[in-house]
Amino acid sequence: MPMAPFMERFPEVGARETRSVTVTNRQDLPDGEYGFLEFYCNEPGCDCRRVMIDVLRPETGWSKIWATISYGWESLDFYRKWGGTASDPIETKGPYLDPLNPQSKYSPALLNLFRFLLQSPDYVERLKGHYQMFRDSLEQGHDRQDNPETNRLNNRRKRLRDSNRRQHSH
Ligand SMILES: [Zn+2]
Repeated sequence: MPMAPFMERFPEVGARETRSVTVTNRQDLPDGEYGFLEFYCNEPGCDCRRVMIDVLRPETGWSKIWATISYGWESLDFYRKWGGTASDPIETKGPYLDPLNPQSKYSPALLNLFRFLLQSPDYVERLKGHYQMFRDSLEQGHDRQDNPETNRLNNRRKRLRDSNRRQHSH
C-alpha cells in the first residue's frame, strides 16, 4: 500500500511532534541524533491502522535511511481479520524491519530503540492521533463534496444564483 510522510501533510505538527533520540556512548549505534519519521497509508477508504517509520539522521538527511520499521498498534486479531490470508498479522503488527524497504547494519539496534520508545503510552497515543489526522485530511481532500460544511455553502450559493437568475429573467 502507498505510504506518505506525515511531515508533508502537516509540516508544523510534524516538526513539533516527530520523535527523535540523541544517542551517546552506545556500543551498537554511532553517537548523535536519530529522527523517527512517520509515514501513513494514503489509499482512499483504507483503514490499516499502522505506521511506517523511516529512521533518519540530520547529517545524512534523506540520502540515507538508517532503518525502516513497520508497526501497528491494534491487536493481532485486528490484523488477522483485516489482512485476511494475504499478509502475516505478526509482521503487520510488528514492530519489525520491513524487508521491502531500505535498512542499514544499524537497523536491529534502531528497532530496539523504537521498541524502547513504544514503552511510553504517550508515544503510541501520538502515533494513533497522527494516523487519525492524516486519514481525516486525506478523506476530506479526496472528495470535498462529502464535507457537510462545503455542501451547505455550495447549496446556499446555488440557491442564491438561482434566485438571482429568476429575478433577472423577469
Ligand atoms: Zn492502508
